[in-house]
Amino acid sequence: MAARLYPTLYTKSVYRINFEQLYADGYRGLIFDIDNTLVTHGAPANGRAKRLFERLKRIGFTCCLLSNNKEPRVKMFNDAVHVNYVFDAHKPSPDGYRYAMEIMGTDKRNTLFIGDQIFTDIFGANRAGISSILVRYIHWKEEIQIVLKRRLEFFVLLFYRIYVKRQDPSDRKSAAWWEARYVNGGRSLESEGEGETDL
Ligand SMILES: [Mg+2]
Repeated sequence: MAARLYPTLYTKSVYRINFEQLYADGYRGLIFDIDNTLVTHGAPANGRAKRLFERLKRIGFTCCLLSNNKEPRVKMFNDAVHVNYVFDAHKPSPDGYRYAMEIMGTDKRNTLFIGDQIFTDIFGANRAGISSILVRYIHWKEEIQIVLKRRLEFFVLLFYRIYVKRQDPSDRKSAAWWEARYVNGGRSLESEGEGETDL
């Protein structure tokens, strides 16, 4: 059952993902969590986030933001990046993920989810049957209920690492295969914005 909490891949940052390769491999829809995935909690889209969505649109992706937050927060972020959005999504319910795919006109096989929380983001993506990338949360300062969840996540990640070590790295569904194919090396493609504050 724990596998239902495991992402397809766990990596440092959304800004290091090789989206060009994902598109070349047939992915067409991207669903993003916002808070602590793209920017710090409650922050508007910064230059780095704006450039990311410009790049994704250039590649050809359709994107949808999926947030448990209220509409004003989600809309405020989206006003700077102009994609689709679903607010009050009740993650980990799979309904919001399905609704996002409906909006984008994509399906389980060509859609990918990216988020920072195991018990909401990744669990929901697994329930909806789509591949997912867990990214390390941007900033530690969070609401108390999230801080408590982070402690539980720490243990899930310990087991996840063991699970990943047992995978066959030549399997296209393994984390090692995904890491080699979809994560850019030491330098972020968005490195020109890395010194930029997103607080
Ligand atoms: Mg988040």
